[in-house]
Amino acid sequence: MITATALPAQPRGLPDWRQSLREAVTDARELLSLLDLGDLVDKLPPKDAGFALRVPRGFLMRMRKGDPWDPLLLQVLPQLAECESATDYVTDAVDDLSARVAHGVLHKYDGRALLIAAGSCAVNCRYCFRRHFPYSEEIAAANGWREALAHLRADTSIREAILSGGDPLVLSNAKLAEFGQALADIPHVRTLRIHTRMPVVLPERIDDGFCDWLAGLALRRVIVLHVNHPNEIDHTVRAACARLREAGAMLLNQSVLLRGINADADVLAALSERLFDCGVLPYYLHQLDRVQGAAHFEMPDAQALSLIDALRARLPGYLVPRLVREIPGEASKTPL
Ligand SMILES: *Cc1c(COP(=O)(O)O)cnc(C)c1O
Ligand code: SF4
Repeated sequence: MITATALPAQPRGLPDWRQSLREAVTDARELLSLLDLGDLVDKLPPKDAGFALRVPRGFLMRMRKGDPWDPLLLQVLPQLAECESATDYVTDAVDDLSARVAHGVLHKYDGRALLIAAGSCAVNCRYCFRRHFPYSEEIAAANGWREALAHLRADTSIREAILSGGDPLVLSNAKLAEFGQALADIPHVRTLRIHTRMPVVLPERIDDGFCDWLAGLALRRVIVLHVNHPNEIDHTVRAACARLREAGAMLLNQSVLLRGINADADVLAALSERLFDCGVLPYYLHQLDRVQGAAHFEMPDAQALSLIDALRARLPGYLVPRLVREIPGEASKTPL
């Protein structure tokens, strides 16, 4: 087991993560003015198009000032296009509600159950398929994780528990420890997987307490990050990844293919290379889930496939993500 002293030091000068979370920008006008883009205020949709703006200041610092097409900005800035209705775009695009088996637990695929651990995220991504999900009523961490743990205990086919969200890392280390402890006592569960964007958008979250907890878990640990563009990865993210690996986690990344942001072979190749530099392997490249308000991000399948072909021609196979779509009712994510 790795002790806390063996972990690389936390990047200096980063504030406490709770403070960073509280200080996230939530006002589109402030965001635009910090980026010298005050002219765009007239193009903002009313009431953030029904999905609150939220962006941590450290992530904002990685955006280019004065660039309305910045690929990080476009992931978080409310757009008028979100208010247009598109056919086939619905509020529950992946049919989560019918996969619900217990409070906060979605069980779609054999061997793994997904827990909606928390109701919020450090960042709000405009294309998020959960932008309409009734989070607040469906949090597995409520009541000491009781219902979720009961489901995991009762179903011996479950080998892997997945904490997803919202972002599970908005929970305190103590709340996570409560879960880890109980999980380790369930003999058939071998792996804990955490889906989180925190190490990228709020790397100070990967603090000593979290790393100690992770290092001490008697389970296989997988962390799936969510990075869409190489500009999201700076030295603070690299340091957070190093700490996670030292704590024994296998690191993977999933991205969403997004028009105007990463639908480009050069960008995706640079992303894979930069992830690899951080010890992270690309896992999935998701075709967009058809959630209301996100239609302007979608790329046609034919173009998505030719992007993957281009990546395959220039990268080693292990740096080419699997292009998939989630089709409700299927036994796994579906390769294109
Ligand atoms: C995507 C997803 C998983 C994980 O699928 P993998 O292919 O193992 O990454 C598990 N449960 C649910 C409900 C999911 O949506
Ligand atoms: S971090 Fe993930 S769950 Fe949260 S808004 Fe972004 S895409 Fe959605």
